Amino acid sequence: MSTQLESYVAGSWFRGTDGGEPVLDAVTGDEVTRVSSHGLDFAALVAHARQVGGPAIQALTFHERATLLKQLALHLGGRKDDFYAVSLRTGATRRDSQVDIDGGIGTLFSYASKGKRELPDDTVHLDGALEPLGKGGAFVGQHLYTSRPGVAVQINAFNFPVWGMLEKLAPAFLAGLPSIVKPGSQTAYLTEAVVRQIIASGILPAGSLQLVCGSAGTLLDELGEQDAVAFTGSAHTAAILREHPAVLHRGVRLGVEADSLNCSILGPDVTVEDPELDLFVKGVVTEMTVKAGQKCTAIRRVIVPEPIVDAVVDAISARLGRITVGDPADQSVRMGALASLGQRDEVRKAIEALRTSADIVYGDPARVDVVGADAERGAFLSPVLLRARPGAAEPHEVEPFGPVATVLTYGSVHEAVELAARGKGSLVASLITHDPQVAREVARGLAPWHGRLLILDRDDAAESTGHGSPLPMLVHGGPGRAGGGEELGGIRAVLHHMQRTAVQGSPDMLTAITGRWTTGSRRVLDGVHPFRKSLAELRIGDTIETASRTVTLDDIDHFAEFTGDTFYAHTDPEAAAANPFFGGIVAHGYLVVSLAAGLFVDPDPGPVLANFGVDRLRFLTPVKAGDTIWVSLTVKQLTPRSSADYGEVRWDATVTNQDDEQVATYDVLTLVAKDRR
Ligand code: NDP
Repeated sequence: MSTQLESYVAGSWFRGTDGGEPVLDAVTGDEVTRVSSHGLDFAALVAHARQVGGPAIQALTFHERATLLKQLALHLGGRKDDFYAVSLRTGATRRDSQVDIDGGIGTLFSYASKGKRELPDDTVHLDGALEPLGKGGAFVGQHLYTSRPGVAVQINAFNFPVWGMLEKLAPAFLAGLPSIVKPGSQTAYLTEAVVRQIIASGILPAGSLQLVCGSAGTLLDELGEQDAVAFTGSAHTAAILREHPAVLHRGVRLGVEADSLNCSILGPDVTVEDPELDLFVKGVVTEMTVKAGQKCTAIRRVIVPEPIVDAVVDAISARLGRITVGDPADQSVRMGALASLGQRDEVRKAIEALRTSADIVYGDPARVDVVGADAERGAFLSPVLLRARPGAAEPHEVEPFGPVATVLTYGSVHEAVELAARGKGSLVASLITHDPQVAREVARGLAPWHGRLLILDRDDAAESTGHGSPLPMLVHGGPGRAGGGEELGGIRAVLHHMQRTAVQGSPDMLTAITGRWTTGSRRVLDGVHPFRKSLAELRIGDTIETASRTVTLDDIDHFAEFTGDTFYAHTDPEAAAANPFFGGIVAHGYLVVSLAAGLFVDPDPGPVLANFGVDRLRFLTPVKAGDTIWVSLTVKQLTPRSSADYGEVRWDATVTNQDDEQVATYDVLTLVAKDRR
């Protein structure tokens, strides 16, 4: 580790010019390195992101960006052991480091995969369906997302130096935004180690990732209307950022993850014999001790039915008694140190505040037995469990950012929800119940106050990812006190970084703008069946208009008998006549779709390899015996796959009857070879 951390600015490593502040090892108290951003050119930092990083990322499609994220995940995954070694100095055990390091890399993988599966191979993403705006179909509207010519500034807390960076970087990168990462100074050396690997790999385009080690200085002064700040940390700092002129007057978008007094509620149905009691106790102890409780999602309030509280306190205390505290490098240690001596002081102060209305029932904030380290030089603290006295206020107000939780009791389910809500908005709550009625009542009461809910019982416990783990595919963030921000949640987080615009115009204009065929726009009939064209030859709008076919009663009878679908509307004239929609025998919808395929398919071997699905199928007008139908099939979207010699073609299929009424509309999904075969 270098004697002073460096920032990565405009393609070079920069060392603060004032010698920096010391950063101490959480376990030994020795100096690890020094940190400073003094003298850093914040204007150059932001200009480089805007002028070099943004254009380079935005020249890539979503799929190309996703491919790079996957390469990055593989690259970092191969260097995990180096990161684990550095992580020990933050006080993290192996399990803690997995949450941070593997969790961060897993988030990259997840965004790589979602980017490929849920976003187009394009730089524009459509939002929702086409909106017809005029009677004749000549004027339509479409919402679409585009990348902003801005910068994503990511200010992270000290507790997740790797995950905190990667969970913000991945969606911003997919969205086309360059990132400027500012880690919490206390553990910035681990972030710096990972950034060095990312830069050295050369995987991300120049300017897509820059790093500020040390104070954020005048960074926010450089930001404007196309930029965003994603902040994780204390409510105090969040308040400073909210009042910054860039946010107040220049339209900088600020997302905040701040304090959160998360709770876990034991359902009133659970008895001491039920497996749910053990699940509840394990959950509380895990959340108190993983990362020594320094997790924004950790359980701070343990909400229990009054009659069972003594048993719960005993069970949690017994389990806490098995937690060995000490040097995280020691295999027998279950809980390491807090990130710094300063953090330990803060947590001790918070415990004192909690004691105003709660009594300690387990642990001693002043002393702890420590394995393999010095209890005073390292930032060690015993897990501390408190039990609130009736009417206690502090447990709903004070966030002890360490291995500390307070037990509260409730009488009715309604009261349990009210207690949870006194946290004024949290990231996550758990409810441990095996009673669906309790789950329904409590979950509906908790949901408006939380970003995520875990309902845990014997049925989902074995597969549960636990209370404290934010998942890339689920939203992370909570209302009110938790900051009101929202991160992750799969592609939602990507779209938060992009601009949604409603575009109005003719279908042809929207086809040109979106790169996807828009209903009502020109169809190209060049006499060549599009099934004879390779992916390279197909163009948006290429169309086959088929011959027509008259549907007979024999066709309907045959289909009913052949498939076994003898639903009365296809087989019983009297009953079908009484049906308010049909008024007589009608063809099966699937018969219409099958006949349509018979009309549009070009049967000989060729570039079309497979039909892998149908989307958005709607039957609009019933088909009766004697009706004549025909199909138009138009290329709507082309998506080459980078790792295969074929790609996906989405076709617009419209089945029309002799009266020019639409009978069925749907998208046909096929795989087509890139080259003609
Ligand atoms: P801080 O709010 O002090 O710091 C968070 C980040 O903000 C750090 O990178 C910090 O940099 C930076 N920062 C501090 N002041 C400014 C400023 N004026 N302008 C721009 N950036 C600034 O939180 P900590 O990380 O120290 O954690 C302290 C508390 O935050 C915890 O005790 C806990 O209550 C809460 N927390 C909440 C989390 C959540 O997600 N809910 C997660 C982690 C912490 P530097 O480190 O250089 O000061």
